[in-house]
Amino acid sequence: MENRFEYMRPGELKECVGQNPIAWIPYGTLEWHGRHLPTGLDALKAHKICLKASEKAGGVVLPPNFNSMKGTFFPWTFRYPASLTIRNLYTTLEFLHRYGFRVMIILTGHYPAEQIILFEACAQLFTAVHDSIAIAGPEFFFASEIGYFGDHAAKWETSIMMHLFPELIDGEELSKLGRFTESGLFFKGVFGENPATEASPELGKKAVDLIVDNMAELAGRLSIEKNKKAALDFHIDCLRGYFGNNTETAKRYLRIFSPNLSRNPTHL
Ligand SMILES: [Zn+2]
Repeated sequence: MENRFEYMRPGELKECVGQNPIAWIPYGTLEWHGRHLPTGLDALKAHKICLKASEKAGGVVLPPNFNSMKGTFFPWTFRYPASLTIRNLYTTLEFLHRYGFRVMIILTGHYPAEQIILFEACAQLFTAVHDSIAIAGPEFFFASEIGYFGDHAAKWETSIMMHLFPELIDGEELSKLGRFTESGLFFKGVFGENPATEASPELGKKAVDLIVDNMAELAGRLSIEKNKKAALDFHIDCLRGYFGNNTETAKRYLRIFSPNLSRNPTHL
C-alpha cells in the first residue's frame, strides 16, 4: 500500500489517518559525504528508514526534508539558519495535527548537536501544547545496542548506503580511501572508521533492521498508550546517550586531530 504522503490522494490520506494517525518526518541535509557517497545521503537514509518503519507500524511518510542547520565546511554543503529549520519543522507538525495525525516521529539523519537539541525541544514544546505526541531523534539512537553512535560517510553511513542505495556508491572512490588513517580521512570529509576496509552491506542491513524494528515498536506503543511522558523519557534518554557517548568521541577526535587543526580542507 502507498505510504508516501506526496503520492497519496485525499481519500487515501483520510483513510490512513483514520486507521493509524502516525506521521513519519524524515530530515537530512545536502552535505559533502566524501567522494564515494551522494550529498543527499542523510535525508535519503532517513526517508528510506521511515518508509520501512511505516510498513511495519502504519502511518504516512513525508517527503525527505533537506532543510537542516549546521554541517561540514566541505563543498556542496548547505547550512540553513537554525531559526528557519525549526520554523519549518514546527509548521509541519502543526499542519499534520490539523489534518488529524496524532503521533509524529521525526527522524534526523543529519545530527549536529544543535539540530538534535532543537528538534527535541521543538517536539517537546509541540507535545506540551497539542493533543498529539511528537518525538525527534537521530537514527543511531535506535541502534546503539550494536555500537552505532553515528559517523559521517565512514564505516556506518557507508554500510547503511550499501544496503539501502548500493547504486549510489562510487566503488572506485571508496577503495581509494583504503590507504588513509582516521586523521587522513578527516581531511577528505570522512569522519569515523575507514569505510574502505570496515563497511559492508551486511552491517548496513543489521543496523537498518534494528533501527526500523525499534522505531516501529516505539511508534506503535505511543499510538496505543498516548503517553506524553514517554516522549519526554525518549528525549532524555536520547540526549544522555548522545552526550554521554560524545564526550569520549570528542576527546578521541581532539587527540587525533589537534596537530592538524590549522589545516584547511578547501583544497578538496
Ligand atoms: Zn551523514
